[in-house]
Amino acid sequence: MKLEEFQAKKLFDEHGIPVPRGRMVTTVSGAEAAAEELGCPVVVKAQVKTGGRGKAGGVKLARTPREAGEAAGKILGMNIKGFVVERLLVDPALSVAGEYYLGITVDRKRKVPVMMVSASGGMDIEKVAAETPEKIFFHPVDPHKGLRFFEAKEMAFKVFQGKKNALDAASVMVKLWRCMNSLDATLVEINPLARLEDGMIIALDAKMVIDDNALFRHPDLESLRLPSPAELKELEARKHGLSYVRLDGEIGCMVNGAGLAMATMDVIKHLGGTPANFLDIGGSSNPEKVVHAMKLLVSDDNVKVIFVNVFGGITRCDDVANGLVKAVSTVDLKLPMVVRLTGTNEVEGIKILSEHGIKAFGDMTEAAREAILLAGKGGAGR
Ligand code: GDP
Ligand code: MN
Repeated sequence: MKLEEFQAKKLFDEHGIPVPRGRMVTTVSGAEAAAEELGCPVVVKAQVKTGGRGKAGGVKLARTPREAGEAAGKILGMNIKGFVVERLLVDPALSVAGEYYLGITVDRKRKVPVMMVSASGGMDIEKVAAETPEKIFFHPVDPHKGLRFFEAKEMAFKVFQGKKNALDAASVMVKLWRCMNSLDATLVEINPLARLEDGMIIALDAKMVIDDNALFRHPDLESLRLPSPAELKELEARKHGLSYVRLDGEIGCMVNGAGLAMATMDVIKHLGGTPANFLDIGGSSNPEKVVHAMKLLVSDDNVKVIFVNVFGGITRCDDVANGLVKAVSTVDLKLPMVVRLTGTNEVEGIKILSEHGIKAFGDMTEAAREAILLAGKGGAGR
């Protein structure tokens, strides 16, 4: 689970790492009020789970509350690398004298956490790594002993000038390690870790990824999940026992089994169509599940046709057919639907469907062609 900057800064703060005392807001007036309260100048920052916000125009300096409001107006709703900005962090702007990089992540090759420190902070660290790798210092952390102060100090003196700066930075390093370790993070990153004109060492940016497999140990962190509308739909689907991933295409797929769902998307693509989603309704033909799946598909405006592809094994085709008939009437389906049914009781299943005016195929390619044709993609007949 990736956290947004304001969330990571709060956790850093709880671990004693110096961070600016900002406010998270979601509106223009909220940004103005925060600027008023904090005192100007402030920086208004887009909260999205991606880096490079500065370059994208998602970080703006404001000298008055009015300017903070204007900046908020520009940044809210902005699309940064596919993320739409819904939240902002208003931080007091500080006078920066130097920008450094500090991060700890899990090195999969060495199978230990590795701390990275560089004096080339504030910019894209991947770029630094590619162009001037000698400017990044690495230190593998013994996960049992943890990062000890003398190790941090040795790293800090490679990058920071002066004893006080180096000791302050070393202290941030140890705290950052403790934060990562105690919260089961797979990444903690401060870019830039800034040296202010008054000599303070402070985290101006914060990135953090929590290991999803360890979240059960941190039930309080679960509330930090800020799902996008698409992710909300996927979470809702999971509650009904469905695996759903939305895609950008036009053919809404309802399939039993993950393998068949993948194969269905492949066939659609191969024949020139575009799948609107991955949807595995699982092994059972529970009609409730089919209804939920249908609701999910029709709630996507991109979907032009529904393609049901079911292989009856333990799942019986007549059960599926009954579920589909129920789903069609429950959601009052207006979209065209193509069904492919094969396997156990397929003759009965196809009969039930045709009695209700639903056309069913036994062959997957034929059915996919029909779906693509109905979606108006013209991929059929190839
Ligand atoms: P990113 O581009 O997504 O990594 O966003 P950052 O939080 O790193 O912000 C981008 C840049 O804005 C930083 O590298 C800083 O140079 C600058 N910045 C952020 N906060 C402040 C601040 O309080 N004062 C000053 N002077 N610059 C800041
Ligand atoms: Mn940054």
